[in-house]
Amino acid sequence: MKADPKVQRRLLDLQAIDTTLAQLAHRRRTLPELAELETLARELSALEDERVRAQVAVDDLDRDIARIEKDVEQVRARKSKDEARLAAGSGPARELEALQHELVSLNRRQSDLEDAELELMEQRETAQGVLDGIERRAADARERRAAAERRRDDALAEIAKEEEFKRQSRQPLAGDLPAELVTLYDKIRADTGLGAALLTGGRCGGCRLELYGADMARIRKAAPDDVVRCEECRRIMVRTNESGL
Ligand SMILES: [Zn+2]
Repeated sequence: MKADPKVQRRLLDLQAIDTTLAQLAHRRRTLPELAELETLARELSALEDERVRAQVAVDDLDRDIARIEKDVEQVRARKSKDEARLAAGSGPARELEALQHELVSLNRRQSDLEDAELELMEQRETAQGVLDGIERRAADARERRAAAERRRDDALAEIAKEEEFKRQSRQPLAGDLPAELVTLYDKIRADTGLGAALLTGGRCGGCRLELYGADMARIRKAAPDDVVRCEECRRIMVRTNESGL
């Protein structure tokens, strides 16, 4: 393939743009915020599991407390009924005595139930504290996630802006060069990430290999408008005064 040496040198400008575009694409894939967001998602999911367990513990205690309160209510009702019957004072003495006995045991029962309720309420306070702690940690993690999302979106917008700018300068440059040359360049670039490289000091700028003997002689013999390629990496080698030929 033939191309004017000046045209060949412009391939390096095209390559500089494409290298920047590749770096931008790499930056987009490897934004630190992406890893941060993955960690936060795992953290939030674990916290949600913890929160559900803590809520179940609180709900269980609430149910137990409600059951005890209902029992206390029943004992109180039974006590008022007994007290009313005692106050009325009617009925056989044995029956009244039995009522008094029952009142004693009802009082004991009420006191036991109230002690148990107090203990459950203390447990509930502890369980609620655990739940509150988890919810605070989750709220904090959600805030950190929102902040990381904002930073990610800012970075993505910045990358998109730079890409747009680079694409806009690439288009007229590539359009100016012979289509056949750009096609070859694009093909090599698709395979290796780099389509054209400068030959400096007898060294290929693509694979950094130094040219010797027959390789060097072949390049030296080539006409200035020959498009020469590295034997090693197949890239287009652009020759300038610094090529060491
Ligand atoms: Zn090479």
